[in-house]
Amino acid sequence: MSEKKLRFNSKTIHGGQQPDKAYGAVMPPIYQTSTYAQTTPGGHQGYEYSRSGNPTRSALESALASIENGNYGLAFASGLSAMDAVIKLLNPGDEVVSTNDLYGGSYRLFRQVFEKYGIRFHFVGMEDVARIAEKINDNTKLIWVETPTNPMMNVVDLKAIAALAKSKKLLLAVDNTFATPYLQQPLDMGADIVMHSATKYLGGHSDVVAGALVVKDKELADQLYFLQNASGAVLGPMDSFLVLRGIKTLHVRMQRHCENGEAVARFLAAHPAIEKVYWPGFEDHPNHDVAKAQMRGFGGMISFIPKGGSYEKAVEIVENLKVFTLAESLGGVESLAGHPASMTHASIPKEEREKSGVVDALIRLSVGIEDEADLIADLEAALK
Ligand SMILES: *Cc1c(COP(=O)(O)O)cnc(C)c1O
Repeated sequence: MSEKKLRFNSKTIHGGQQPDKAYGAVMPPIYQTSTYAQTTPGGHQGYEYSRSGNPTRSALESALASIENGNYGLAFASGLSAMDAVIKLLNPGDEVVSTNDLYGGSYRLFRQVFEKYGIRFHFVGMEDVARIAEKINDNTKLIWVETPTNPMMNVVDLKAIAALAKSKKLLLAVDNTFATPYLQQPLDMGADIVMHSATKYLGGHSDVVAGALVVKDKELADQLYFLQNASGAVLGPMDSFLVLRGIKTLHVRMQRHCENGEAVARFLAAHPAIEKVYWPGFEDHPNHDVAKAQMRGFGGMISFIPKGGSYEKAVEIVENLKVFTLAESLGGVESLAGHPASMTHASIPKEEREKSGVVDALIRLSVGIEDEADLIADLEAALK
């Protein structure tokens, strides 16, 4: 059966994978080598130097392309280095329209690194596509989207934005870290580039920092490969192996993340000590219809505000949790709790942060795949 025809739950395991040619190893060996013997100058077997290419990384890159329904995958040393390569497609004077409520490190990369090189960034709430169009001018080259957004869980209509990008001949890049290809496949909805912090759900075990890009178009893939090799932020063989192993259970983990996420979201929403819960699965979530149409489930990311919410109250709750670990990051098998204002989003100025709803009392949960009852009991106790 052609590998392209496999269903998602089989692609995570077999996508782009073949038993190793040397000894038939079912998992690709960790080719922990920087260089490759040549029989004559230029006489090699497809690999010359591991920045340019490494068989373990290639195995991961094929798997990434497969699960995102793309043709080309690229693995980077981190999510931010993958983004860095995308922005390096641009030239001084070019402009980018980006989601306003996005990962703090992405905001920092745009504002504090690339603005210095003459690239301009506009940040808008993309739930209303008209607001994106307002920021587009002759210099605009790229639309950068995160959906669901971090940490406010807004959902952006990818098909509508893809149509806008096409009509204006702009590139559309989607940070698919939160949703993963299990929940949505942006390339199928018209995006040009999918980016991942593979540190999160793709790796899935909080044991590796990695990034990924997937595209369909050959020319775009060539440009990004050039940047990956020229700038050099490649993923090492051991880390490539870990992400590849993580991907093999992505579908079963995501199924449980969605189930537990729903249980926790509904528990919090019904709790008297809670002011507000942000989770796109709620029928009254402002973007619920878009979420339902473009996502296969609603995931395990939830944000909430306790009643009478203050900085101190939020800190007290996250400190009282025992099964949820207080930590940065998300998407691992274990449940994590975070306080965006002082942790993941501390690099965004308070005023800018609060405009998109990231107030001091906000708590973000990455609901893991433990027993649902233990997670709820932990929250119940911490809220007392
Ligand atoms: C973590 C994260 C990033 C950055 O990825 P790193 O692997 O930490 O470099 C980018 N976008 C989102 C949505 C993230 O959660």
